[in-house]
Amino acid sequence: KGILTGEDIWCQGFSEPDHGSDLGSAQCRAVRDGDEYVINGSKIWTTMGNYAKYMILLARTNPNTDRKYDGLSFFLSPMKVPGIDPKPIRKLTGEYGFTQTYFNDARIPASCLMGEEGKGWQLAMQTLQYERGAEAGAAGGLSMVRIAFEDMIEMLQGKQRDGSEVLQDPVVRDELMQLLIEDKAISIGEKRAHIGALNNDFRMALPLSTKLRWTEHARRMRLAAVRLQGAGGSLYVQDSQAIQGGFWQRAYMQSFSATIGGGTSQVQANIVAEHVLGLPK
Ligand SMILES: Cc1cc2nc3c(=O)[nH]c(=O)nc-3n(C[C@H](O)[C@H](O)[C@H](O)COP(=O)(O)OP(=O)(O)OC[C@H]3O[C@@H](n4cnc5c(N)ncnc54)[C@H](O)[C@@H]3O)c2cc1C
Repeated sequence: KGILTGEDIWCQGFSEPDHGSDLGSAQCRAVRDGDEYVINGSKIWTTMGNYAKYMILLARTNPNTDRKYDGLSFFLSPMKVPGIDPKPIRKLTGEYGFTQTYFNDARIPASCLMGEEGKGWQLAMQTLQYERGAEAGAAGGLSMVRIAFEDMIEMLQGKQRDGSEVLQDPVVRDELMQLLIEDKAISIGEKRAHIGALNNDFRMALPLSTKLRWTEHARRMRLAAVRLQGAGGSLYVQDSQAIQGGFWQRAYMQSFSATIGGGTSQVQANIVAEHVLGLPK
C-alpha cells in the first residue's frame, strides 16, 4: 500500500561504479553474521536513493563460485540504517535524481534476504524484465513522460525556417511522417505484445524489443523537435526566449536516460539478437 500511495519510496541497488551492463560481476559484499548481514561496498545511479525507505539490493554473498552469478543474493533492505549513506549526484543538466550509495559495515536483518542465498541473479533478471517493459509494456519501470507526437506538431505550428513555414517543407514533412509511423507502430506493437495469439512465431520479439524501439524513437522525436526550432533550438531552459520555456530541449536531454537505465540500447540489441533472432553471443 505504501508504494501505491507514494509514502514508501523504494530504490534499486544494482549498478556499481565498475559494473553496470556487466551486472553479474557486482562486488558489493554481504556477509552473514548471526541474525544479520553486514554490507560493504557501493552502488551508483541509485534513482531517488536519498528519498528511499527501502532498497532492492543485489550483493555478493559468495565470492568463490564457478559461475559469478551464483554468488549473488537479493535483499529487501531498509535504507535508514547506520552505515548506509546515499550521496546525491548532480546531473549534466544541473538537476539531481541519483545517488551513489555507500555501505560501510551496514547491518541489516538476515530476514531481508529474499529467496535463497546465491539465487539473487534470477530475481534481479525478473525485476529487470519489468523495468525494461518486457513484462509490463511501457508501463513497466520506464518513468519517462510520454509526449504525444501531436504536441510536437502543435509546437511547430506557424514556425518559420529558411523563410518559409517549417511544417510546409516537404523534407520536414517526410521526416515527420516517418516519426509518426514509428510512433503508431510502437503503440500498436505494445498492444499486440499482450495478445499471445498474435505472437506465435516470435513470442518474445515484441516484449524484448519494446524498450529498445520506444526509447530510441522517443529520443529521435525529441531531437527533431529541437532541430526543427532552427536557431531557437540552441536556447535552453531558463532562457526567456526559449520556445515553450525550453521544454523540448530538456525533454531531449532527459531522453538519453531511458536509453541507458535498465540496460543500454546496445545491451538491449544484444538481448534481441540472442533471444529473438537466435544469433550467437
Ligand atoms: C536514468 C537512469 C536511472 C538509473 N537508475 C538506476 C537505479 O535506480 N539503480 C541502479 O542500480 N542503476 C540505475 N541506473 C544505472 C544503469 O542501470 C546503468 O547506467 C546501465 O546498466 C549501464 O551501465 P554503466 O552506466 O556502468 O555503463 P557501461 O556498462 O560501462 O557501458 C558503457 C557503454 O558500453 C556499452 N556496452 C557495455 N557492455 C556492452 C556489451 N556487452 N555489448 C555492447 N555494448 C556494451 C554500453 O552500451 C555503453 O554504451 C540508471 C541509469 C540511468 C541512466
